Order: sequence, then C-alpha cells, then structure tokens
Amino acid sequence: MLSLKEVLTNATRERWAVPHFNFANSSMLEALVEAAVEARSPLLVGTSESERDFIGIEQCVALVKSYRDEHDMPIYLNADHTYSVEKAKEAIDAGYDSIHIDLSKESFEDNLRGTKEVVEYAKNKNPEISVEGEIGYLVTDSSTIYKDVIDVPKESLAKPDEAKRFVDETGVNRLAPAVGSIHGIAANKPHLDFELISTLRGLLGDTAFVLHGGSGVTQDEMKKAVQSGISNVHISTDLRVAFVDKLREELEKHKDEYRVYKLLKPEIEEVKKVALYNIELFGSRNKL
Ligand SMILES: [Zn+2]
Repeated sequence: MLSLKEVLTNATRERWAVPHFNFANSSMLEALVEAAVEARSPLLVGTSESERDFIGIEQCVALVKSYRDEHDMPIYLNADHTYSVEKAKEAIDAGYDSIHIDLSKESFEDNLRGTKEVVEYAKNKNPEISVEGEIGYLVTDSSTIYKDVIDVPKESLAKPDEAKRFVDETGVNRLAPAVGSIHGIAANKPHLDFELISTLRGLLGDTAFVLHGGSGVTQDEMKKAVQSGISNVHISTDLRVAFVDKLREELEKHKDEYRVYKLLKPEIEEVKKVALYNIELFGSRNKL
C-alpha cells in the first residue's frame, strides 16, 4: 500500500490532487470511504479541532485505521487546522497520519518557529507523518455561507520569498499557501492567482501544495489549479451542506421514523455524490 508521502509525491509529479474531505461523524466518514473505494482513489480525511473533540481523538484514529485495514487502501487521517503546537502534539501522540499546523494568523517568525517545532516532534515520533504548514491567510471562516461578496486582499496572499524560506527552514512536507481561495461559500466565486501558484511551484520543487476552501472554487479554476501544481485540495463546506440539507429533508418527510440508521442512509448517499464529483475533478480516480 502506498504511504501518504508516496501518494502526495505521485500527485505532485503527475499533476493530480489528493482529496482532503472533512468528516464530523461516522456516517460522513462512511460516505467518503465508499466514494474512495468505488473510484479507487487515495483519500485523506480530516477533522478540525472541533470535529476531533466531538468524535474523540483516539476514536478518529481507530475509525480511519479500521477502514484502511479493511480495504487495504491508502486512507489517511489529517488533523486539519490545528491552531497550537500543543494541539498538534496531542494529535501526533494519538496516532494521526498527518498534521496541519495552522499558525498563519501569527507573525511570520512565530509561524515559522512553531511549525518547525511540530515538524521536529512529528519526525521523532514517526518519520512517516506528513506535516502541512500554512502561510498567508484566508479571510473567512470555514463552513460559513456568506450572503455578501468577499474580496480577497492582496496582502493576505502568500509571498514567494517567505514561502521558500518557510519550507526550507521548517522542513514541512506540504505547504498551504493562500492563493486567493476563501473558506466557506460567498456570494461570489473568488479567483485564484495562477501566476502565484506557478511561481511557487517553480521555487519549491516537489513540496506538495494544499488548497483550502475548495468548496468556493469554480470547476474551471479547480482544474487549472491542479494543472498548475496544487496536489491536495480541502473540501468541507460542500460535504456539510449535502449532509445537513438531506437530513432536514428526511426528518421533514418521515416524521414517524425513529430508526436512526434508516434516517441517515440518504445523507450518506448525498455526501458520497459530492465526494465522487470532487474525486473526478481532482483526477485522483484509479491512482492507487
Ligand atoms: Zn481549511
């Protein structure tokens, strides 16, 4: 079975992207795994700090491992948007395969120092752990549906010289540079800065690039982003919307139904559809 690092290297070299899908309960995870198995796609699933608190950090690790073993497929777990070194160490100790340390709201020097500490801690614990750092910053919050048009200010984007120094000095395996996307969904579809992505790709060799806020990007721009060198894309909002909208509909439709497993089946199908759509878009089908 391919390791997470091998999957990411293949994606970066061959210009396709590893899907990163968030889950908040076991039904969502089931849907994501079903989609990956059906499409024979590698899969990175993620939990934010709140999602892992809700499910249980040890339980997240156990659940994902059980699916990986059952299907003998590269299905890995990321600690998405971990906002402190302490929380990152907690996820490493619990057995996460990947850590996203997000100190992007702190000063560049503090971000660099904290990220480096996490990389070193992870390496000592298990050299197979993939660490993602983030520079520049996203201007919006995850899973919020904004009624307004959101402008992405130029100063929030990643700066190429800082990106190079950040990767060289921290030793991160993946870099999430702010390149114009936003978290959540806005009234407009923000445009990605392809020139910036290409400049960073030219500077940073085989470092995998991560795009956050995939739900708000148009289909055309997503394809172009993957071709330009984005090799890992985060989708969360679209999955949550699929699950919750269907749940509301089912509860309304079947007021006399109390068998939870019956009520939750259609939501799994909806989440799976969104996952499969994105797997096609990222070109990760049949990449085992
Ligand atoms: Zn994100």
